[in-house]
Amino acid sequence: NDGGVSELPDCISSVIPGWFSEISPMWPGEAHSLKVEKILFQGKSDYQNVIVFQSATYGKVLVLDGVIQLTERDECAYQEMISHLPLCSIPNPKKVLVIGGGDGGVLREVSRHASVEKIDICEIDKMVVDVSKEYFPSVAVGYDDPRVTLHIGDGVAFLKAVPEGTYDAVIVDSSDPIGPAQELFEKPFFESVAKALRPGGVVCTQAESIWLHMHIIEDIVANCRQIFKGSVNYAWTTVPTYPSGVIGFMLCSTEGPPVNFKNPINPIDADESHIKSKGPLKFYNAEIHSAAFCLPSFARKVIESK
Ligand code: SAM
Repeated sequence: NDGGVSELPDCISSVIPGWFSEISPMWPGEAHSLKVEKILFQGKSDYQNVIVFQSATYGKVLVLDGVIQLTERDECAYQEMISHLPLCSIPNPKKVLVIGGGDGGVLREVSRHASVEKIDICEIDKMVVDVSKEYFPSVAVGYDDPRVTLHIGDGVAFLKAVPEGTYDAVIVDSSDPIGPAQELFEKPFFESVAKALRPGGVVCTQAESIWLHMHIIEDIVANCRQIFKGSVNYAWTTVPTYPSGVIGFMLCSTEGPPVNFKNPINPIDADESHIKSKGPLKFYNAEIHSAAFCLPSFARKVIESK
């Protein structure tokens, strides 16, 4: 029994029998592979193919349209960094909006902040929420927090309807700009994020890989510099199961009280109260926060020239 691997849908190929290989036009000529123990779920929602499999060495794995979204072993790196890089950079964040993030991991991290009073999440695909609750309880635990309100819908439309200055922070935990997330990387969306933020409010978006996507990052940085009149920064971190093993983040603030993203003034690792319900932080700390903004020369040259 090959754990149903031979029945993998066409959207993903198992170039090596019993292995999942992540082949995509977004990273031509390379593919990360994980050994598959058993396929746990396969489905097709109105938006994307959804697969969950038990891997041999990374725990359970969530795949959307053939692209690894998270694994139990290394999701902490991404969820903790995309949440705490913005929230630890401003004093007392109260109202937070998450776009995407249907697995609930960002909710788990945002709810560690005692100052937060309200967390809205707008996820387009209910199947991702349901699958995460069933197969990734340690990630979907974020939904248990009473401050969370789940909206199922397109983040683009949701933000258009948000009153000006509503949020202290917006976190865009999106999949890649192929498929339903495409518009989340475009200028009109960033403009609607800026409108939804208060003066000195912050946004953090998933911003691809400096090894693979400098052309996408260039455009994002250029758009953000035009739209966000506070500060615009690019940070990055290591996530072994993301293409090229790294992922980046755009950290921007609107005009108003200055935000120095490189100096976490609201350190979450100093506060232990969240550990009881959410478990310890596995990746984020104040030092790795500041270090995340140190870029290799080839990336710094492009990003600072925009
Ligand atoms: N949290 C994941 C991780 O740890 O890597 C990252 C990806 S998360 C699963 C990306 C989510 O964005 C998916 O659930 C997808 O359905 C959602 N999404 C894509 N486009 C969207 C849109 N336009 N509006 C709202 N959610 C969207």
